[in-house]
Amino acid sequence: MSEISRRYFLESSIGVVAMATSGHCLSGEAVGTKANKTVMFFGAHADDMELRAGGTMKKFVDRGYKAISVMLTNNICGAYVDDNTKQYFSTSPAETTEIRHREARDAAKVLGVEIIFMDFKENSYWNGTKRVFFGTKEYEEDKARGREALVVTPYLDNCINDVAKVILDHSPEIIMTHSISNCNPEHCAAAHLVHNAFLRIKSKIPDSELWFTCRVQSPSDVLFLSPDVLIDTTKYHDAKFEALRRHKSQRIPLDRVMTTDEYWGKVAGVKYAEPFKIILRGRSF
Ligand SMILES: [Zn+2]
Repeated sequence: MSEISRRYFLESSIGVVAMATSGHCLSGEAVGTKANKTVMFFGAHADDMELRAGGTMKKFVDRGYKAISVMLTNNICGAYVDDNTKQYFSTSPAETTEIRHREARDAAKVLGVEIIFMDFKENSYWNGTKRVFFGTKEYEEDKARGREALVVTPYLDNCINDVAKVILDHSPEIIMTHSISNCNPEHCAAAHLVHNAFLRIKSKIPDSELWFTCRVQSPSDVLFLSPDVLIDTTKYHDAKFEALRRHKSQRIPLDRVMTTDEYWGKVAGVKYAEPFKIILRGRSF
C-alpha cells in the first residue's frame, strides 16, 4: 500500500476503503477525527457531482457533515426531446436554468445537500432563433446570460478569487471536483479553477484536501486516473439513484452509472463504491 493511502486510511473520518495503485485494498469504518465537518463538491453542471459522488455526498451527510454542492455554471445550454416525435427542441437560457436548478434543488433535498450557484456561463445557448457559441461577439457581449464563461475562469484572477472565497467561507475538510484528465472542456476547466483556487489559499486551509473524482465508462473520462480512495457507498446507492432520477431533463444512463459503481465496489470488496484521487493537501506545502 502506498504511503498516501495508508495515511489516509488511518486518518479517515468517513469510513473508506483505501486502495494502493498496486490493487491491494483495505476496508474499514474509521472514527471521525476532525472538527470541521464540512465537505464541498464543485461541479460544472447540475448533475455532475451526483453522478460521480452522489453516494459519497449522502454518506458524509449521514455522518453529521454539512455537504455543500457548488454549481459552477448557470446551466443555460439545454434542449429536450419530444417523447412522441423524438424531435429535439432547444430551450431558452432562462427556461433551461429554471428547469435544471429546480431539478438540482430536488436532488439536493434527497441527499441532504446545500447548493451554491456561481453563475459562470456555459459554452453555448439558444437565443430563440439560433445557438450562440462561446468566442463569438454576440456571446461575449451578452452579459444578461451570466458572468464569465466557465472555460476561461482558470485564467482569470477575479474568478479564482471568487471560488477561493467560497472555499474560505466554509473551510471544508475535503473539496471534491472533476478530474483534470476529463476531456469535457467545462469539466476540465472546473478542475483547473478549483485547483488554482486551492493553491491560492493553501496556507489558510492547512487541514483541507482537494480530491478529484475518478470514473470509468464515461465518454469524457478519456484518461484513467487511478484512485487513492474508494468510498463504500453501498448503503447510499438507492439515495444516489433517487437523486439522479430527479434530473428528469438529462436522460442519465443509469445502467452505466450502476455498472461503474459495481466495478469500483468489486475492486474494493463491497457492493458499490465511488473512486477519488487525493490531489493536494493544504499542509503539504
Ligand atoms: Zn457536466
